[in-house]
Amino acid sequence: MNIHKSKIDWCTHTWNPVTGCRHDCEYCYARRFIDRFGPKPDEWPDDAVEAIRDATDYMDIYVSGRPARLNNPDGSYKRSTGYPRGFAPTLHAYTLDYPEKRLTPADIFVTSMGDLFGEWVPDEWIERVFTACEKAPQHTYMFLTKNPTRYGQLHYAGKLPQRPNMWYGSTAATEERPIFRLEGYKTFISIEPILGPFSALEEGRDIADLIIVGAMTGPTAKRDAPRREWITALKETCERQHIPLFMKGSLEKLMGSDFIQQYPAEMKARV
Ligand code: SF4
Repeated sequence: MNIHKSKIDWCTHTWNPVTGCRHDCEYCYARRFIDRFGPKPDEWPDDAVEAIRDATDYMDIYVSGRPARLNNPDGSYKRSTGYPRGFAPTLHAYTLDYPEKRLTPADIFVTSMGDLFGEWVPDEWIERVFTACEKAPQHTYMFLTKNPTRYGQLHYAGKLPQRPNMWYGSTAATEERPIFRLEGYKTFISIEPILGPFSALEEGRDIADLIIVGAMTGPTAKRDAPRREWITALKETCERQHIPLFMKGSLEKLMGSDFIQQYPAEMKARV
C-alpha cells in the first residue's frame, strides 16, 4: 500500500489508499493479482479491518487501520497483507499520509488496484484521498475510473478539487464509454485495452489534455490484438489537435518507428 515505483509506463509511482472494485472487467489485472497473491477467504484476518455499509447501503465495504497480520494455525506469524478482504473495496486509512511523507515529486497513479470512483465508494473516502493529495502538492496525481459520471457528481457537490496537479482520467476501451471533460479540470482518457477504432477525436471535439492508449495484455492479448490503423488514426488526430499521446509499451512492436510516448509538461517527475 506504500507509494511504489511502478512498471506502468505513464506514471512513475502507484499509491493505493483504496483497493478493490465491483466492475467485472474480463481483463482485470488487479483482481488476478490479488486473487493470486492475497489471502484466501479462509485466511482473512479478523482484526485490523472494520466492515461498514457501502455508498449504496447495500453491501459491506471495509476500512483497514493497519497492515493485517496473517497467522499460521498455531498462531505464529505467517506474513502481513495489504488485502485483508481480497478484492472487496477497502480503504487503507493508515496510508493516507504517505504522499506527504514522500518529498521527491512523483507522477502517482492513485488506486491502480481498484476503482476509487465506483458507485459503491462513499464520498467520505474520496474526500479523504483528495485531502491527502492536497497536503502533498509536490506530486502529480492521476485518477482513473470506469465510472467518470462520479467526477461530475462530485463537481456539482463542490467536492472535486480543481488543481493543475490533479488529473481525472476516464477509462474508455471503446468510444461508446462516457468520458469526463469539464473546463478548469485536467483530464485524460485511457484507451486501454483499445478494442476498436476511436474516432471521437476526428470530429474535432475537445475531449482531453492527454490520451493514453495500450493493447490488451494477459490471456486474451492475441484474441483482442489492436489493428495498426486504429492507432495510426488516433496518432494523426492527436497531432492535429495538439493532444499529447502516450502509447504504452504494449504497442511498441506493432507501431515500430511510429511508436511515441508523449506526456504533458505538467508531469515533470520523469525529467
Ligand atoms: S475497473 Fe479496473 S479495477 Fe475494476 S474490474 Fe475493471 S480493470 Fe479491474
